[in-house]
Amino acid sequence: MKPIRKFTVRAVVPGPLAALEELAGNLRWSWHEPTRRLFEHIDPEAWAGSGRDPVAFLGEVDPARLEALADDAGYVEWAERERADLRAYLDEPRWYQGLGDDAPRSIAYLSPEFGIAEALPQYSGGLGILAGDHLKAASDLGVPILGVGLFYGSGYFSQSISPDGWQQERYPVLDPDGLPLSLVRHPDGTAVQVVLALPDDRALVARVWRAQVGRVTLLLLDTDVPANPDDLRRVTDRLYGGGGEYRLQQELLLGIGGARAIDAWVELTGAPAPEVFHMNEGHAGFLGLERISSLIGEGLTFPEALQLVRASTIFTTHTPVPAGIDRFDRPLVERYLTNNLLPGVKPGDALALGVEPGADPATSAFNMAVMGLRLAQHANGVSRLHGEVSRRMFGSLWPGFDTDEVPITSVTNGVHSPTWVDPALRALAERVLGTADSEHAEWLSGALDDAELWSVKRGMRAQLVADARRRLAAAWSTQHSGAPAPEWIEGVLDPDVLTVGFARRVPTYKRLTLMLQDPERLAAILTDPDRPVQFVIAGKSHPADDEGKRLIQQLVQFAQRPELRARIVFLPDYDIGMASVLYPGCDVWLNNPLRPLEACGTSGMKAAMNGALNLSILDGWWAEYASEDSGWVIPSADQAADASERDALEAAALYDLLEHAIVPRFYDRSEHDVPHEWVGMLRRTLAGLAPELGADRMVREYVDRLYRHAWRHGRAVGADHARGARELAAWSARVRAAWPGVSVVHVESGGVDAPHVGDELRLRATVALGELSPDDVQVEVVYGRSTADETIESPRRAVLEPTAAKPGDGPREYGGRVVLDRAGAFGYTVRVIPNHPLLLSAAELGLVATAG
Ligand SMILES: *Cc1c(COP(=O)(O)O)cnc(C)c1O
Repeated sequence: MKPIRKFTVRAVVPGPLAALEELAGNLRWSWHEPTRRLFEHIDPEAWAGSGRDPVAFLGEVDPARLEALADDAGYVEWAERERADLRAYLDEPRWYQGLGDDAPRSIAYLSPEFGIAEALPQYSGGLGILAGDHLKAASDLGVPILGVGLFYGSGYFSQSISPDGWQQERYPVLDPDGLPLSLVRHPDGTAVQVVLALPDDRALVARVWRAQVGRVTLLLLDTDVPANPDDLRRVTDRLYGGGGEYRLQQELLLGIGGARAIDAWVELTGAPAPEVFHMNEGHAGFLGLERISSLIGEGLTFPEALQLVRASTIFTTHTPVPAGIDRFDRPLVERYLTNNLLPGVKPGDALALGVEPGADPATSAFNMAVMGLRLAQHANGVSRLHGEVSRRMFGSLWPGFDTDEVPITSVTNGVHSPTWVDPALRALAERVLGTADSEHAEWLSGALDDAELWSVKRGMRAQLVADARRRLAAAWSTQHSGAPAPEWIEGVLDPDVLTVGFARRVPTYKRLTLMLQDPERLAAILTDPDRPVQFVIAGKSHPADDEGKRLIQQLVQFAQRPELRARIVFLPDYDIGMASVLYPGCDVWLNNPLRPLEACGTSGMKAAMNGALNLSILDGWWAEYASEDSGWVIPSADQAADASERDALEAAALYDLLEHAIVPRFYDRSEHDVPHEWVGMLRRTLAGLAPELGADRMVREYVDRLYRHAWRHGRAVGADHARGARELAAWSARVRAAWPGVSVVHVESGGVDAPHVGDELRLRATVALGELSPDDVQVEVVYGRSTADETIESPRRAVLEPTAAKPGDGPREYGGRVVLDRAGAFGYTVRVIPNHPLLLSAAELGLVATAG
């Protein structure tokens, strides 16, 4: 019989074990192994069955067992010790507290998805996992982040595969009462609600769930409340569940509702209000509009409020694929962006923020990334290469400037090692290296011998093999209406065979099936009688992406071949739980995107931290960290005539590396069956590379380079009743209006008849400023090596100073010198740019007048 309603009754834990409830209520258990062991001890089997989620687990454990443990003084004391450890973790000063008062008191971090734990499936892939790792590392470092997202009633989706290889989606409904969440309530017990005005006098109501991620609070908005009509209850039913209006409603809720939830939280708890706002991708862009609306309520104009909001906002872009950016039809956005929704904001002003550069404002799509960049004075990509790609991709927002000057920097992603490093490897570090910190140069030390490290690696491989068999058997049963799995599944994979992993979302650019370019060559590699190789593959395709599903189907059908099925498997329903066994179990992590479409990629980082070597196209993070110590580079065939030739060339390189470099090294064994050269690479990866890949490194960089900068700048612009914002807004408007009158009229140079290194180039420029005064501008010479295609490479800049102070409004003269410090072709030009102490980059206003 099917129930009409379901809910979860939370367990009543006996008084002496109250510590367990406190420990279960903080998601730190998801990366704190000692806490997990404490729960596991209660009932190891039920623990594994609960998906290692303490909240669900406590609900399922036999109450008699809990009663017995409540009488067990040793266990009670153990639980209290762990609780004391958690409390100390939450209270003690950590890295950030060492910065004293010279840092923001609170930072809001908005993201459409958060991947924190298997038990809280609120992510689809890398973006969400990154956000989860960001919060966890912030917690460890004591960074006062307040996370904001949505609660999706069915998460992303749960994947199974039909017998003919086609992806099936299921949307099991999550019960928030059974998850590690608590409802945010007023002191009188009623739920805190956030309300958004919608067109046609409707209102969207959301309640707010709170997840505690170590020291970090995460607020998740949920529209599944009785106050909403049915269609609006479904606004947060799925992550990336549809386009158009549904997606717009979600993003309005995330940005505008998110800002309102923050206000409610601050009011309710007295927590410090955020002073810096970080938008993880464009989906949260409406946040800026809501803040502008509030500031207009405090008496600022739209342009003034915009300056103040920009000063303290950071926008992180994650996709180099234009198709990956959210764009809405303008009439749709126009219908929603009303004065009721955003009091004080003229719809035209709001709409203008999303107009794509060069497009007709009346018809342009509303582009969320473009709006994000206009609402944030600080922006970054997520690897060095992605920074460059983003500066090119968004360069047209700053016309007239070279890509080098586009104000988008980069912070390379990192991964949270306490979450991702296998407990066996951490235990080895503790035992042999004397530190729980597995990221340590001591991995090279003679105190650890190769055989010991190799045996731990084998253990992790065996754990993956067992997990894969279990998953395949379960998937078989599901596919065949509960029939028991055939025996051959028990023989799938081998804990002593070279194991290659590949798991990620399945958009076409990631090329799931590149390995199938020459199926017979791959089959030969897999089934080599002496030196076999096995592949473990997983990944979800977006439900609307049939092309991705076809790729999965090709792979599944290949893996179904009876002679291959023991050596290549596709595991359905890739998630954090699978990932945490998969990375440690692999020897090689394969990554073959079309360069440069992988913004960063983090799975290879997680693999490296677990002693896997990367076999990857030089894209994303690997483009800056690749080394012979840590893996192999698959050369990109960028020069290929077409896509299929490129795929063929890159696949051939992949097979070559496997056959001639990887397989021989893996199977080159000493008399004790240890591959010393391989283990040497593994040690160098753990010692040299892994420490660079940590999310702690990433979060420190965000703090040092972006959060503190945005905070100082926000204060400068906001001080004294936003005097800076008012000045900057008025000044920008004046400069913009007068800019057509600015030009470089004439440039003269001297001192370079037969130039040698060390000579000085003397310059004199005549510049027309129109209505502007010399204080409003900077005149500069831009110079450097001149290339064949008439550009200046890696240009440098030097300021030219006014020479004779001519009275009146006529053209003015500027002069200066440049030392020719390098031989070869040299080029220069002179330009005028706006100059104001509150601008952060030369390109900021997108205004420039260049000679010639
Ligand atoms: C790390 C991770 C990802 C992201 O991997 P990429 O290499 O960045 O594509 C996706 N899903 C899960 C479950 C992960 O753990």
